[in-house]
Amino acid sequence: MTARRIDGKASAAAIRERVAQSAAEFADRIGRPPGLATVLVGEDPASAVYVRMKGKATAEASMASFAHVLPATISEAELLDLVGALNDDERVDGILVQLPLPKAIDTEKVIAAIDPAKDVDGFHPLNQGRLFAGLEGLVACTPLGCLHLLKAELGSLAGLDAVVIGRSNIVGKPMAMLLLSENATVTMAHSKSRDLAAIVRRADIVVAAVGRPEMVRGDWIKPGATVIDVGINRIPTDDGKGRLVGDVAFDEAAAVAGAITPVPGGVGPMTIAMLMRNTLVAAHRRAGFAEPEDL
Ligand code: NAD
Repeated sequence: MTARRIDGKASAAAIRERVAQSAAEFADRIGRPPGLATVLVGEDPASAVYVRMKGKATAEASMASFAHVLPATISEAELLDLVGALNDDERVDGILVQLPLPKAIDTEKVIAAIDPAKDVDGFHPLNQGRLFAGLEGLVACTPLGCLHLLKAELGSLAGLDAVVIGRSNIVGKPMAMLLLSENATVTMAHSKSRDLAAIVRRADIVVAAVGRPEMVRGDWIKPGATVIDVGINRIPTDDGKGRLVGDVAFDEAAAVAGAITPVPGGVGPMTIAMLMRNTLVAAHRRAGFAEPEDL
């Protein structure tokens, strides 16, 4: 391995510590801590684990956690009522509705019902539009975490060639917009792109957000490039437990790249750290306070 291993776990821990400190100061000023409400509908085990991790991180960040667990049979109207109540609840600065929602519920409608000022996931169309227009808003946590790692690794991204593989609304598209706002030259590649290997070979920065195990090979990587692997894929193993791998063939890519995120321990922990950061920022804005520094 020649590449530097980017330690997302350590970066995330440092951010969460700064958030906790700032959240305690916020509580001293206003008489209550920043608050994050989570909404889990149904019993998807992966979603339940994510929500539990987010609740634990919220408490560790000296913030208030309001957990709402609803049965999969809840109606869309009931869920919209809950979102409305959380919008009106002064103790709640951030609202996170865990996706996916049951099929009978219109996800877009639920996201659009969240107060954009409390939309700490950054999925509301208004926040997505503000990012597109280069205006202040709340930005999706995973791409925000990737950008944080890239800037810590590279400093200025101005003029660098960046390739984002994947164009989802929650990762690929906002990632491309963030890189553009940092003056990188951005290419968005996706399932219909021709000769993906050749596109990736030009990149100083590669962000892979595809959901295909080890699709990006070592010989696609330009020597010295910085590789951010968003993918989380479980592949089968002989012991039946399975193993997590990213969208990048790690060992191959690490032999060529300048720096690379591992899976797990790279982007994943940053996503939760950025959720804490977004909740803190939302609380400050709602209270009319200046933005917390260094976050
Ligand atoms: P998605 O399924 O919504 O989007 C995948 C994108 O990949 C699509 O835009 C598609 O065009 C592109 N794609 C599919 N096959 C391709 C191919 N052969 N070549 C090039 N592009 C191709 O997925 P998503 O929600 O953006 O998530 C992507 C991955 O990131 C998944 O593995 C997911 O688990 C992971 N993820 C991780 C975190 C984290 O916190 N680390 C957060 C969100 C998503």
